[in-house]
Amino acid sequence: MSISDNLQGILKNVLPGVKLVAISKTNPVENILQAYNVGQMAFGENKVQELVPKYQLLPKDIEWHMVGHLQTNKIKYIAPFVHWIHSIDSLMLLQEVNKQAYKYNRSINCLLQVHIAAEESKFGLNDEELIDLVRSPILKDLTNIQLKGLMGMATFTENELQIRNEFHKLSELLFKVQTIAGNNLPEFKELSMGMSSDYLIAIEEGSTLIRIGSKIFGERHY
Ligand SMILES: *Cc1c(COP(=O)(O)O)cnc(C)c1O
Repeated sequence: MSISDNLQGILKNVLPGVKLVAISKTNPVENILQAYNVGQMAFGENKVQELVPKYQLLPKDIEWHMVGHLQTNKIKYIAPFVHWIHSIDSLMLLQEVNKQAYKYNRSINCLLQVHIAAEESKFGLNDEELIDLVRSPILKDLTNIQLKGLMGMATFTENELQIRNEFHKLSELLFKVQTIAGNNLPEFKELSMGMSSDYLIAIEEGSTLIRIGSKIFGERHY
């Protein structure tokens, strides 16, 4: 199967209104170009040091998504070009993204990462931290970010019911934030959830952004 076949296979399962973000981490630029050449425009990476050189080498109309854990001191390297950051897990990080985006006169779409998995290791806000963040009066001063919604990763398990419940929880949290924030966060409607193994469940539970790597590019090239 080629990258193009893999993309087509996924896209035929995807509802209109769901965006496919091709997660290209560990893949060489040639593989990314193969996907780009058949129309894939949105790509995601999880490390700043991999995202920056790929941005430099690849066509400038690619829409870049940062999906991995982000350190405050590295935001400056991606702020000139990144379109979406999926992994915001503190107000401080959001303030720094805003500051850097302001320098470049840009607006960056941001998603708040919520910890929905049973595993300890995954990053993200808990429910209480999420609610505190969206209630913060500071948000209205952040003119160079758009708070677009939530991101989450389900537990790595074969148990589909558990995965579904975790995605369902994220979608309920989106609704809860919408209710709390009301007109203060008019753009807060995106749900970034679903990877190669669980994207069909994620779409059924309301995902609007699926992040798929290995199902497009094959096993990763470490
Ligand atoms: C690697 C990665 C993905 C894609 O994972 P696959 O299982 O290869 O589809 C999605 N989201 C994040 C945050 C990732 O790091």
